[in-house]
Amino acid sequence: TPARWERRAEIDLSAIRHNVRRVAELAAPAKVMAVVKADAYGHGMLPVARVALEAGAAWLGVAHVEEALQLRAAGITAPVLAWLHTPETDFAAAIDADIDLGASGWELAQVAEAARAGQHPARVHLKIDTGLGRNGASADAWQSVLDTAAHYQEDGLLRVVGVWTHLAVADEPDRPETDEQLAAFRDAVEQAEAAGFDLELRHAANTPAALSRPDAHFDLVRLGIGMYGLSPFRDQSSEDLGLRPAMRLMARIANAKRMPADHGVSYGLTYRTESTTTLALVPLGYADGVPRVAVEGPVEIAGKRYVSCGRVAMDQFVVDLGETPVDGLVGEPAVLFGDGGPSADEWAEAAGTINYEIVTRVGARVGRAYV
Ligand code: PLP
Repeated sequence: TPARWERRAEIDLSAIRHNVRRVAELAAPAKVMAVVKADAYGHGMLPVARVALEAGAAWLGVAHVEEALQLRAAGITAPVLAWLHTPETDFAAAIDADIDLGASGWELAQVAEAARAGQHPARVHLKIDTGLGRNGASADAWQSVLDTAAHYQEDGLLRVVGVWTHLAVADEPDRPETDEQLAAFRDAVEQAEAAGFDLELRHAANTPAALSRPDAHFDLVRLGIGMYGLSPFRDQSSEDLGLRPAMRLMARIANAKRMPADHGVSYGLTYRTESTTTLALVPLGYADGVPRVAVEGPVEIAGKRYVSCGRVAMDQFVVDLGETPVDGLVGEPAVLFGDGGPSADEWAEAAGTINYEIVTRVGARVGRAYV
């Protein structure tokens, strides 16, 4: 952690530890997979993966084989599942590195081919699309996917160790579709067992299902947003859920000045000062993940809350501080979000998006500091 910093995302690893433990307790005896794709939702894949495993996560989950290979290259030997592939995916490298592979259908032939040249069978988690309409075999194709997998398994090229699905509306507990998806999932699991597969892992739950649906826990919950301490629910905060936000995004104020009434601010002059006021410049912009469309995003400066004004530019945006004296503002930390201050939820609200996107898009120019 550098002593000098201009802008940074502080990552509180003890918060990650706390969140993993909390969900692990709720989910037991089901295990926890720490979902660390997309650079751990912007928090830094390797430090988060290490702390999550220490705190009791049994598995790591990523989208891409390349992400899984980065975990292995860093010496992490825990079980890893990678689930989003294309025909260019390096399945041979994945099998060689003992990475479990999600597969929906077409992948099976390529995975088997890659295993043929390797030292051992591939470990496969077959994915069923129970309603999300995204990846996974459709219910109609499920039996044929099982047959195909059984054929490769008999040839010693792969082992089906898991069956899994992904939920579409678990963040909206009142909707009926989750019940339908779980019923379809139980059917798919039964079919797989009837086909003779000796399953180690059945898994369906993301964070909202891990927190609200014990009947979705099965053998493993795939914990993403909750590990980072953010709530997947509209009407419940991190605090309501007993989670601690891990990321604090801040930058030092780059400029501050008194400005007259009716002065335009930033591109398009969409904001005009109401009266004589203090404007401060925060050196974070949309290149750093601050959404350009955000209106009145919250910012805390010297313990007081203000809001952004005018358009967010590539590198900077402006905050209207009203009567606050200019003296001492330059260099003062401006906190966009973090535990106890404004939240990523509020920035999401200000930008018409979800907290997942706010943290995940924090750019590479913003140094991560682990505290
Ligand atoms: N499982 C899969 C397949 C995912 O793609 C994701 C992330 O989007 C997760 C689990 C984790 O979801 P959440 O962040 O809501 O816990």
